Amino acid sequence: MRAIVLSRNNELSSRHDYPTPTMRDGEVLVRVLRAGICETDLQLIRGYMGFTGVLGHEFVGVAESGPMQGRRVVGEINCSCWTCSTCRAGRPSHCPNRSVLGILNHDGAFADLIAVPQRNLHAVPDAIPDEVAVFTEPVAAAFQIPAQIAIGMRDLVVVLGDGRLGNLCAQVLARLSSSVVVIGKHAEKLALLSGAGIATKLLADVEPDHNADIVVDCTGSPTGLPMALSLVRPRGTIVLKTTVAGEQTLALAPIVIDEVTIVGSRCGPFDRALAALGAGEVSVLPLISARYGLSDGVAAIEHARSRPSLKVLIDVQ
Ligand SMILES: [Zn+2]
Ligand SMILES: [Zn+2]
Repeated sequence: MRAIVLSRNNELSSRHDYPTPTMRDGEVLVRVLRAGICETDLQLIRGYMGFTGVLGHEFVGVAESGPMQGRRVVGEINCSCWTCSTCRAGRPSHCPNRSVLGILNHDGAFADLIAVPQRNLHAVPDAIPDEVAVFTEPVAAAFQIPAQIAIGMRDLVVVLGDGRLGNLCAQVLARLSSSVVVIGKHAEKLALLSGAGIATKLLADVEPDHNADIVVDCTGSPTGLPMALSLVRPRGTIVLKTTVAGEQTLALAPIVIDEVTIVGSRCGPFDRALAALGAGEVSVLPLISARYGLSDGVAAIEHARSRPSLKVLIDVQ
């Protein structure tokens, strides 16, 4: 089958002879329709996690086997063991034995076929088109924020970062708080948000005012957390949505003195994301910057890496 493969020396190649996935226990085969390129993919190419194999974890496809055979599906990315104490305690996305689609010890979705645990699959309602359903994983990640912390209508919520994830988080949070402000560097990406009725500010115009009840860092940059600390109020909350490879130095005393809560936030609820996409609560089509066929997958990744873009899609079939 065709696949976009990352090999040991961080080399990316388009293969036409990649072996069809071998299914592990409880897995079914999914024929991929659309896949999305995410910041994590770009970090993996730079050596994050030391991943080798087929990239891609945002996808919609058709189940080729199992009880959902013939139906359109999206899939949660953590493949958990379901037997260890962490899984049995109800935290399967933190299973120490897990593999993660396209990220850790499991081939991903930039391919004709992907093997996915049956219990990770969610059927996609007919009303949701493929190019919308492919956003389920990042939209679910945005919905993880209200799943972790309480957000009040009057809370001042600041989202740092005007990229794909910042945009989706802002859209989700703007339904929960009437004061959401996105801070970013790119006028055209901020314009997309203001067009959706969300307040924005250019980074250059921001003063450290310690006013925000909640700051969500979606920058993917080592400068995100220090910036968040300069904006959050005493006893406020910082949510870290993006991973930053490597180590950072940071003065921790302000966190103690101001009694700031820092929350790490990763994968979220797919059912909630599908409901929101079906109801049009979150608008994703304006985020699509470019589309490529699977055979041009390397060019698609190059586009996402080197040109200003929000979401680059791979049309697999
Ligand atoms: Zn992702
Ligand atoms: Zn487990």
